[in-house]
Amino acid sequence: MASFVHGLGIDITTTTTGQPNHASTDSNFEDDDNSNHGSNYYIAMENVDVDVANGNSDLSELGTPPEYESLGYTDSTVPPPQVSVQQPQLQEHRFTELPYLSEHNVRTVLIDYVADHFCYGNRAAREMNINNIIPSNALHYELISFTECRHTKHISEPYRGGEVDGPLNGTPPSPWDIEISYQQIFVDEVKYLEVPHTSTIKSCHTCRGSGRVECGSCCGRKKVLSCSSCDGDGRGHATYTTYQNNRRVTKSKLCGGCSGSGKVVCGTCGGLGSVTCKTCRGTKELRWYVQLTVTFANMIDEHVVEHTDLPNHLIKDVHGTVIFQETENLVQPIMNHPDQELNTFSKSLLDSHVRMCQTDMKKIHRQKHIVRAVPVSEVHWTWQTKGSRFWVYGNGRTIYITKYPQKNCWGCQIL
Ligand SMILES: [Zn+2]
Ligand SMILES: [Zn+2]
Ligand SMILES: [Zn+2]
Repeated sequence: MASFVHGLGIDITTTTTGQPNHASTDSNFEDDDNSNHGSNYYIAMENVDVDVANGNSDLSELGTPPEYESLGYTDSTVPPPQVSVQQPQLQEHRFTELPYLSEHNVRTVLIDYVADHFCYGNRAAREMNINNIIPSNALHYELISFTECRHTKHISEPYRGGEVDGPLNGTPPSPWDIEISYQQIFVDEVKYLEVPHTSTIKSCHTCRGSGRVECGSCCGRKKVLSCSSCDGDGRGHATYTTYQNNRRVTKSKLCGGCSGSGKVVCGTCGGLGSVTCKTCRGTKELRWYVQLTVTFANMIDEHVVEHTDLPNHLIKDVHGTVIFQETENLVQPIMNHPDQELNTFSKSLLDSHVRMCQTDMKKIHRQKHIVRAVPVSEVHWTWQTKGSRFWVYGNGRTIYITKYPQKNCWGCQIL
């Protein structure tokens, strides 16, 4: 979807930081209509934080240009207009049922696993008694909130002449009244744009309008600097022999770098004592304006519900089956899954996203939540005098075993 800026010919630069790495394969999400920008907002009047890295200098000694105070623009994150939050309603979410593994299935997985470990004997895998297979589904719940944050900042750039779109051209729009949209929903992106009618020209504060500043290498001492070849003493490394009062003496030759003076012309400023001002690039004037930074970002949280002794983190790395997914402007918590832990975490993660967005002054455009079921079979076995458990989990039937009973090698241990 193309970016659209409301009628004002605003230049936008945009950065897309890539698609989030989700387990979900669903990409058919509808676009938000972005029509809900109200006009009730306030602007914090503090936290002046001018971006030095962009070559923009500290404004604090100059104060904010007077035009902006009446317009309410400061360097700050701007809270989005209030939107009414829907009350959760009990919804009948439906979940898909999954099949379980048979004894033949789990033994095949074990035999294949043993075949990949040359020091394991396969007799135990073939002969062991499989006494019990306890099937269950681990649940991997993921919540993604696609959010937008708007931040304003005063920016300056060298002014090289040309039209200036200042407050005389009209009242600048408030940050959330500027229409700007994401290119693709659920994809992180940053956009920068200049707020119309906020330009003003000021004399460069770094060089006080002269276009040049004192040379940092020679501190303005113009033509001279200590010679780096001789450290300023004028003597070179080469020597010669001469006679003084009929005695043979060895003396240093004059330094070739400075002809013995110990001084050279400053290479940085070419002997002028000053250099071109980096802030205004020698133009003497700066154009200040308000830059709006719009950040679209996914807030992602997840939780694994797993009731056996299989380490929970393993569940995130294997394929499962999506048994439920939903995309809404604001999704409602899952409340009717038979596993109460899933319902509890669905609600608590949703509540925390809303809270964090309020704290960080972000607008939630869209939310989706997904439940993946990952089959887990806990297998109880005995072989000769030994007995323990292993687990087969995931659609790809990965095995997790810590105590295989028949190891044919010396000094080889598995964990
Ligand atoms: Zn210099
Ligand atoms: Zn020298
Ligand atoms: Zn300057």
